[in-house]
Amino acid sequence: MSARAGHKYIFVVGGVMSGVGKGIATASIGKILAARGLSVNLMKIDPYLNVDAGTMNPTEHGEVFVLDSGLETDQDMGNYERFLGRDLGPEDYMTSGMVYRSVIERERNLGYEGKFVEAIPHVRDEIITRIKRAADIGDTQVTVVEIGGTIGDFQNALFIEAARVIKMKNPADVLFVMVSYLPVPGTIGEMKTRPTQHAIRELNSYGVQADIIVARSTHPLDQKRKEKLAIWCNVESDHIVSAPDVDSIYDVPLNFERDKLSETILRALHLEVPGESDFGEWKDFAKKMHGGAREVKIGIVGKYFDTGDFVLSDAYLSVIEAIKFSAAHLGAKAKIDWLNAKHYQQDPEKVKELGDYDGVLVPGGFGETGIEGKILAIQFARENKIPYFGLCYGMQLMTVEYARNVVGLKDANTTEINENTPHPIIAILPEQIEKLKNKNYGGSMRLGAYPCLLTDGTIARDAYGEVEVSERHRHRYEVNPDYIAQLEGAGLVFSGKSPDGHLMEIAELPRSVHPFMLGTQAHPELKARPLTPHPLFTAFIKAAMEK
Ligand code: GLN
Repeated sequence: MSARAGHKYIFVVGGVMSGVGKGIATASIGKILAARGLSVNLMKIDPYLNVDAGTMNPTEHGEVFVLDSGLETDQDMGNYERFLGRDLGPEDYMTSGMVYRSVIERERNLGYEGKFVEAIPHVRDEIITRIKRAADIGDTQVTVVEIGGTIGDFQNALFIEAARVIKMKNPADVLFVMVSYLPVPGTIGEMKTRPTQHAIRELNSYGVQADIIVARSTHPLDQKRKEKLAIWCNVESDHIVSAPDVDSIYDVPLNFERDKLSETILRALHLEVPGESDFGEWKDFAKKMHGGAREVKIGIVGKYFDTGDFVLSDAYLSVIEAIKFSAAHLGAKAKIDWLNAKHYQQDPEKVKELGDYDGVLVPGGFGETGIEGKILAIQFARENKIPYFGLCYGMQLMTVEYARNVVGLKDANTTEINENTPHPIIAILPEQIEKLKNKNYGGSMRLGAYPCLLTDGTIARDAYGEVEVSERHRHRYEVNPDYIAQLEGAGLVFSGKSPDGHLMEIAELPRSVHPFMLGTQAHPELKARPLTPHPLFTAFIKAAMEK
């Protein structure tokens, strides 16, 4: 258990309920400390037993965010990368599944020398080792660790215990922040502090005192309630930060600074940092995210929207942010609509609604649901010259649509949907067949960063402004090499390929044929950042604005 002496840790825990923006609060704390000139690392702990986020249903869990390393993580990691403006490593993410797997493997290898292996100390110490490893990598001064779940969950108790021990051994170097929720019940119309008081008491029962409270609510926290929380929760009132709902999450770090949160944290951690905060271009960016004069209307044709009676867009979080960054960069405001591919399947006439959009995007996906609806949408966008952008599955289906309707290969398909298609335009790689046969589904796709070479004179090459680029992947299927000549002969351009030329990474139509029809096998949305919007998204939004 090393980690440089004097390294600072901030543990962020949740009170009262989930879904109140603990991830954004964590990312924002990272951002305000970085703006003070500190070198900051962010880490996410997910208490579930999945070894990574890759096997979870996006409708239940939200987006799977893939790192350069290929690790499949929680969507909060995407927010962290976007707020910090840099890539995070696999050591910056941890689940209970990962921790238990290491402990059990070590036990099987006689790594515990015949002792009982127990939750405490062995599992706890594995957690501490992992937190310190993340702190040790790179030259960072502060690690902000978000402990997933809500205080009182069985699942995250060991993580809080690990954090308590880190604090006990280095009291001057560790802070606990509770992000709690203060409801304003409609029937009373008054903000209630009691649930937060209980959450703090619950945290106390773990032997932990919160140093800072981030008070999430629909409304700002008033002085009266601040004083009340201070007394009841044993937290100084200037350590309580008001965090009302915001229109744009990118304002949160700036709002935190209005309450001088970085100052409070620096003082509490005994860190001397000269000078003021410098947010650089962030302030300008945050302002632009409230929307430019011009609206650009984008339809996302997907399927991971409905959960019960509600519509959730979390499954496409990075796609949405990438669109917004590029639109803001171009001085526009993106209006994004969720279009359910299943509806086009049930009623093909409905696809005509796409005529009202400036751009159509088909994001990544898996399996059969809504596929024919997506293909109808792609055909409509191609034939009506509506800018189209396909991500991963959206690129594969764009290729299938082209094979069916332009090359004339009726029943062309991906073998993901129809193994016996006469024209397997998209097919599985041989090494993947072996993995599926052995039910080896977890962490076994083509994952993470891969290089791609771009062809001169194409939309992709012009957009990127570079010959070689790197993008993150998450898929099992690829364009079938047997059909490349035929597709190219019929006018489809593979403008990006793997350096060995075997894997088709980007497909597009020439500008003379269509204003913007481009699909990429990768997930460029994962690399779009506030101050560096993604060039392909920017090219797509630009084409949409010109429609
Ligand atoms: N289902 C496709 C594949 O596995 C595409 C995956 C995706 O869109 N991420 O290849």
